[in-house]
Amino acid sequence: MAIISASILHDFLECPHRVTMDALGAARLKDPVSPFMQLLWDQGTSVEKQCVESLGTPFLDLSPLRGEQKEVQTRSAIQRGEALIYGGRLSDAELLGEPDLLRREGTGYVAIDIKSGPAELPGSDDDAEAKPKKAYGVQLALYTDLLERAGASSGRYGYIRDVHGKEVRYEFDAPLGPRSASIAIAYRELKAAAARALDRESATRPALSAACRLCVWKSNCLRELRAEGDLTLLPRVGRAKRDALVGAFPTVEWLASADLSRYAKSKKPPFPGISAPMLVRLQVRARLAVATNPAPFFREAVQLPTNPHEVFFDIEDDPMRGLVYLHGFVVRTHGDPSDERLVSVFAEHATEQGERDAFAAAWSFLSRHADHIVYYYSKHERTKYRALQAKYPRVCSAADVEALFSPRRSYDLYDDAVAKSEWPTLDWSIKSLATFLGFRWRDSDPSGAASIEWFDHWVRTHDAATKQRILDYNEDDCRAMRVLLDAMRSMPQNPG
Ligand code: SF4
Repeated sequence: MAIISASILHDFLECPHRVTMDALGAARLKDPVSPFMQLLWDQGTSVEKQCVESLGTPFLDLSPLRGEQKEVQTRSAIQRGEALIYGGRLSDAELLGEPDLLRREGTGYVAIDIKSGPAELPGSDDDAEAKPKKAYGVQLALYTDLLERAGASSGRYGYIRDVHGKEVRYEFDAPLGPRSASIAIAYRELKAAAARALDRESATRPALSAACRLCVWKSNCLRELRAEGDLTLLPRVGRAKRDALVGAFPTVEWLASADLSRYAKSKKPPFPGISAPMLVRLQVRARLAVATNPAPFFREAVQLPTNPHEVFFDIEDDPMRGLVYLHGFVVRTHGDPSDERLVSVFAEHATEQGERDAFAAAWSFLSRHADHIVYYYSKHERTKYRALQAKYPRVCSAADVEALFSPRRSYDLYDDAVAKSEWPTLDWSIKSLATFLGFRWRDSDPSGAASIEWFDHWVRTHDAATKQRILDYNEDDCRAMRVLLDAMRSMPQNPG
């Protein structure tokens, strides 16, 4: 019988195949753990340590213990009614849980997990209330299941303590969202599905997604997906769409050559979550993927700006420290590459003051170039600038930030152009598109995740070469946007 732990539930939610591979995959097929992943683990350990040190209340520390000894001591601490237990362990039949904290509340105990990210998901524009994170909720539900089995539960709730020391209560019987089931139901379903996969009662399949980026099975899964012509190799076709389509169109080639006329008049989506027009669009994407000399094109009319004064803008931020540490600008006039220049505003201190000073300098640069159009890629820069403005309101006003990201001043190359086009690439990231266009980053490992790890290294060492590596990477990101814009100017529109 498979043993289900909190980390298995967390991983299963991200990718069921990862759970299978971690349990049953051959170690020789694994990629090395990336330095960024290692940093995330170290960060998790350090946040937990800081959180425990700041509890300000006595607790029983069982963290040095392992296995059976840890479990025996946890159960006897619960029997004695210890107020707070750190690093305990409970198991029963198919379940194993190691909650960070168990706190006595009322007549029983409640589980508290310490996380190095925010405790909740931010609310969307329409519904501003923050929402519980399913991955956190199901982990707390597992610990509570174990407490219930031990006859020691305070009730069907738990707490997440986040990186800022904020403690958020998770109710297991409340729905996760307006159209979602409760944490309790999600937990039951996930636990059963993970057990079926681990007991080999149901097979899992890889699916290319954002979760693959940092996964140790990436090379192996990509080989498998390519060999099978898996539909997730198409941009924006994830596991759910692939699973909906795979019965009718098992491979990319199959979809590319399929006769879709029988679906054309369908008023109802012919496949769950896939309308008839979307199916046609996916076939176009599949045809591009199997073409011998594929060329990108716009699906719909796109008017690219023509301002002779251009700024290509990209920021780098460290989500672990909660800091934006670099604002990069590549400036070009009249499309002349020889006139191109880079302006980098780097936070010389990894502190709020350092972040504020860099933001103020970047804002000053943007204000002095008010006649330039600002190109950026997706909503990240806007989101971060709104947050920076709220944090440092003396630098600029909220209206100033909205004006900067308004269509009169800026252009989102992703949302306004790429999202209306088709590319023979695995995804629509700036890395994939600019690489397809022949652009090469100077770094051998260019990624946002890697740059966060380099920044962490720079903060600890102030190594000049590491700082230069970050600046070069950011500059190349900006130049990649320029390459993309120039290529899109001659891209055909809706060639049928
Ligand atoms: S590489 Fe992707 S598909 Fe493969 S196990 Fe990892 S997350 Fe899953």
